[in-house]
Amino acid sequence: MMKKILLILIAALAVGLFFHFDLHQLLTLDGLKGSMDQFSQWREQSPVLVIGVFFIMYVLVTALSLPGAAILTLAAGALFGLLEGLVIVSFASSIGATLAFLVSRYLLRDTIQKRFPERLTAIDAGVAKEGAFYLFTLRLVPVFPFFLINLLMGVTAIKSWTFYWVSQIGMLAGTFVFVNAGTQLAQIDSLSGILSFNLIVSFALLGFFPLIAKAILNVFKKKRVYKNYTKPKKFDRNMVVIGAGAGGLVTSYIAAAVKAKVTLIEAGEMGGDCLNYGCVPSKAIIKSAKIAEQIRHGEHYGLENSTPQFSFKKVMARVHKVIADVAPHDSVERYTNLGVEVIKGYGKLIDPWTVEIKLNDGSKQTLTARTIVIATGARPFVPPLPGIEETGYVTSDTLWTKFAELDEAPKKLVVLGGGPIGCELAQSFARLGSSVTQIEMAERIMIKEDLEVSIFAHESLTESGVNILTSHQALRCETRDGKKYIVVKQQLDGKTQEVAIEYDELLCAVGRSARLKGYGLEELGIETNRTILTNEYLETLYPNIYAAGDIVGPYQFTHVAAHQGWYAAVNGLFGHLKKFKVDYRVIPWTTFIDPEVARVGLNEQDAIDKGIDFEITRFEFEELDRAITDSATKGFIKVITPKGKDKILGVTVVSEHAGDLIAEFVLAMKHGLGLNKILGTIHSYPTWAEGNKYAAGEWKRNHAPETVLNLLEKYHTWRRG
Ligand SMILES: Cc1cc2nc3c(=O)[nH]c(=O)nc-3n(C[C@H](O)[C@H](O)[C@H](O)COP(=O)(O)OP(=O)(O)OC[C@H]3O[C@@H](n4cnc5c(N)ncnc54)[C@H](O)[C@@H]3O)c2cc1C
Repeated sequence: MMKKILLILIAALAVGLFFHFDLHQLLTLDGLKGSMDQFSQWREQSPVLVIGVFFIMYVLVTALSLPGAAILTLAAGALFGLLEGLVIVSFASSIGATLAFLVSRYLLRDTIQKRFPERLTAIDAGVAKEGAFYLFTLRLVPVFPFFLINLLMGVTAIKSWTFYWVSQIGMLAGTFVFVNAGTQLAQIDSLSGILSFNLIVSFALLGFFPLIAKAILNVFKKKRVYKNYTKPKKFDRNMVVIGAGAGGLVTSYIAAAVKAKVTLIEAGEMGGDCLNYGCVPSKAIIKSAKIAEQIRHGEHYGLENSTPQFSFKKVMARVHKVIADVAPHDSVERYTNLGVEVIKGYGKLIDPWTVEIKLNDGSKQTLTARTIVIATGARPFVPPLPGIEETGYVTSDTLWTKFAELDEAPKKLVVLGGGPIGCELAQSFARLGSSVTQIEMAERIMIKEDLEVSIFAHESLTESGVNILTSHQALRCETRDGKKYIVVKQQLDGKTQEVAIEYDELLCAVGRSARLKGYGLEELGIETNRTILTNEYLETLYPNIYAAGDIVGPYQFTHVAAHQGWYAAVNGLFGHLKKFKVDYRVIPWTTFIDPEVARVGLNEQDAIDKGIDFEITRFEFEELDRAITDSATKGFIKVITPKGKDKILGVTVVSEHAGDLIAEFVLAMKHGLGLNKILGTIHSYPTWAEGNKYAAGEWKRNHAPETVLNLLEKYHTWRRG
């Protein structure tokens, strides 16, 4: 901070001296003309010294953003002639501009980053992609003030070297015009006369040329990917969507709603992973497990503790009934009624407009479409541990069927993975009677959340009976004397220690990988890394092929897949008229352990990592009447706001119903409402949602206007007489 203040003082002093010694008078056209004879004389006597002094002066004027650079440029022409003047000014102006740019970066970037983190991140992303082009345009078109460009670019993340060389090249034409004009100084009456309207237009055209050229190049590049294919003259469909999970369902629903002819292809079950293997069955089993736990802890509610009597088979039957009850929402019938043609079969891309469908009866059908949307989702990742295939394992894909016939929950269950899916299932199976060991390689479970949230979750799961082993890495699976073991290693005091954990069932929940193989992505050369690569409009390498959902990421949630589905449908059908960039700014998610953990926006760790000047407001549920009536007071709301402002940057809620409570903050963030607005909203009593209002109230209390309150106290004292 001191260094910054010192720099500001030095700059202010230099500017003060500049005006104090009337140097600005010298840097006018009349001042220059009046002193020209004297300058020329000095130049005759000591040319090197004059060049040196002129150079330094030019650098200082531009570095301090002082007025007079244009006059100095004319002076260069008049004093040194066209070529020499051009070289001197070109280097001096670029160096001066870069110094101004660096000062701006040093003084302003951090502050602006802290105040407008999201906006600056978006600008930086744009600058990283096209910064040099934009800078070149700004430099070439003389209507953009020179000093402003230096200061503004300093706030962005453009590299200093890029700034320097692009500036030097970009300013060359303008410098030439001014230096050349300077060689005829006597004939110049005003600065505005130097740049004629035609010249400005020519510069503008030159400036925009690279951007226009780039746009044209992009069009050609986009077209080039199609060069080995013949585009059909007519299409069978406006859109074909592959995959009927959340992403594909929403895409096709929207396409049909706007009267497009759309076909949805699904190889497996309608509804995809969420309905059949993911959200729905997991939330169903979580509910049964929670009831079992509440019966076990009846005393908590003034009842008697007792052992829940249940058949695991019935619990699993309920899970399947829940799936069946939700299934009509995603069914072929429903979507057909909505105007979507649904084909059960395996879709494969043949060319950028053609999909071949292997129907379930073995026959094949081919469809052409102007737009294709890939929504093929992800599948559980199974770590390649030696012995795992021999000893066997389940994943979220297989456990619901495999466990359906068990009379009891697996006696010894190992859950591999400490992410949301692993945690939800570990707690549920522990509550349903399994002896669960959960293994996590990282030092804590739910690593994406704040440390205190991980600790909270760790305690909740441990209370439910889960034995959590963090910092343990799975090495191999083996069978000894008919028993199955997973061998894990732990680093303890610098030593590696191996432990073998016996299990009846091993559940792999270490992440989910996008389905990238087997349906034509490789053949068409569609770029992938761990997911399909798309631009911000969800276009793949082929602008008419889009992707949505888990296959794209970066979030693997049903609601994000659905959100992307809207963009894939709208951009896919109307992108030639107007395209929309996917908006990922306000994405909530919930981990449905008990108590739940819900998040939107930044958590404390993110705010620290981003260098934001933030503050935390907390509300503890032990203060909430409804939490007390429900004997569920554990948990908190943690709101991140910029220092001194009520703008919500992010919220973490840990409590019963946290997944529902977060919705109010999501709405507030999405529509730019601050904590004051939440505080000013009536919440019915006694509800969990009141916690949101109290969190806002906590913020308000922390920002009470002390001076005003002190005055009010005095006023009331006076009124009492
Ligand atoms: C245990 C578990 C719990 C979860 N809980 C939650 C939760 O609580 N909340 C949440 O938001 N998310 C949750 N998720 C994540 C959620 O399920 C996914 O994010 C969501 O299903 C992604 O939808 P999608 O459309 O991208 O893909 P999917 O749902 O995977 O659908 C893709 C579909 O494409 C089909 N397909 C693939 N290839 C082809 C082909 N070539 N031809 C035809 N069809 C094809 C597949 O059969 C599949 O049906 C959970 C996931 C799991 C595993």
